Amino acid sequence: MTIVMKFGGSSLADAEAIKRCVSLARAHDSDRVAVVVSAMGKATDLLVELADAAVDGTRRRVHTLLGELHEIHETAAHVFGAEEAVTPLLSQLDTLVAGIGAVGEITPRSRDAVLSFGERLSSTIVAAALDGHAMTGHEAGIVTDDRHTEANPLMKMSLHQIRENLTPRLDRGERIVVTGFIAATQHDVTTTIGRGGSDLTATLIGAALPADEVWIWSDVDGLMSADPRIVPTAHLLDHVTFAEAIEMGQFGAKSMHPRALEPAAEHAVPVRMRNTYNPDSPGTLITTGEPDGETVRAVLRLRGSALLTIAGAAMVGRQGTAARVFQTLAAEGVNVQVISQSVSEAGISVVIPEAHVDRARQALEQHLVRAGFAKHVDIQKDIDVVAAVGAGMAGVPGIAARVFTAVAAREVNVMAIAQGSSELSICFVTRADQSAAAVQALHEKFGLGR
Ligand code: ASP
Ligand code: MG
Repeated sequence: MTIVMKFGGSSLADAEAIKRCVSLARAHDSDRVAVVVSAMGKATDLLVELADAAVDGTRRRVHTLLGELHEIHETAAHVFGAEEAVTPLLSQLDTLVAGIGAVGEITPRSRDAVLSFGERLSSTIVAAALDGHAMTGHEAGIVTDDRHTEANPLMKMSLHQIRENLTPRLDRGERIVVTGFIAATQHDVTTTIGRGGSDLTATLIGAALPADEVWIWSDVDGLMSADPRIVPTAHLLDHVTFAEAIEMGQFGAKSMHPRALEPAAEHAVPVRMRNTYNPDSPGTLITTGEPDGETVRAVLRLRGSALLTIAGAAMVGRQGTAARVFQTLAAEGVNVQVISQSVSEAGISVVIPEAHVDRARQALEQHLVRAGFAKHVDIQKDIDVVAAVGAGMAGVPGIAARVFTAVAAREVNVMAIAQGSSELSICFVTRADQSAAAVQALHEKFGLGR
């Protein structure tokens, strides 16, 4: 069996945690295993802050952050006898940061160089602990465009190269440890593929080999039918389809980023979410194929959003208004989470992160209201989005009726509704203080409690 095992930062927080991951990987010594690692613990957050502090010239902060990074990695390196490999990496980081400080400027390219140290260091330490071979994502074969900090892997070339580079090593029984998150352009310039990108590294490798399964090890068992903090009877979903997992991807840090699921879905490589602190749990298996017969599988909520409504008679029957709204929001870098427009065309409602509200309001007032395309922009803060997700809902009449009956019975007011034509989810907007009741009502209504 060929398995890609990706260990997240929380599973690699210190030497103790690394030992646990190493024994989980070693338990599969008779299989072909490619390990992918994130940076240790919060190392990437520290590096992000370090890059900013280096430009600002806040010497003391730079000193403290470098100190912390040295401490975390030297301590772990010491336990596994990896000092010889780790010391030069840390001095390279010191030099790089000093250089940025001297110039007082950071380019996206040098920022990526700084960020890459988290995974360079963790892979070196894990390889020592595992008695394996460390390689960067670039050495493994991942090539990206040059959109630094959010680079996109060039799929065809990457898949081909990964296969060429890793297969002979796995055939020889080598244990390989690949850096997640970092890759390089075709000109060998280091890039990173976006925060949380190690999952994508893992699924790329899984798709390339191809692996029988990709295991994403973190500190949660997998996907749940609801957040157990608000629904105590919530249960672990033992199996979901890629379509469902992608639909659930926006709801909380504990799910996988849809971008990471795409290569696995496309190449039909099953992904299993697993917990390093609870390895006896089989986790959640994500595969292609049919949903598990039920309708609603999970009830989720997205917090910290605002509902923004652009309204006015001028919008009715006028072509290009929606385009103008979304172009304006896009130009301001506002992320649109939910969209809803009634057939009257007298208003378009969008849900956006609360942090983007001021930017969005200003831009819409300037480009729509003052330009005569709309009458006013309304904003409601403190709202949540609740979603009922399940691939089995498609084509089944009466689901929406059941959803809204259950919510109404709890006297929760629904402020906006959206459903994609894929019918994978129904989502609606409520006041933040009513969303927990809505989630509880739906979880119960669809019999998801165990
Ligand atoms: N270390 C990177 C981050 O924290 C990538 C990852 O962990 O997936 O975003
Ligand atoms: Mg991560």
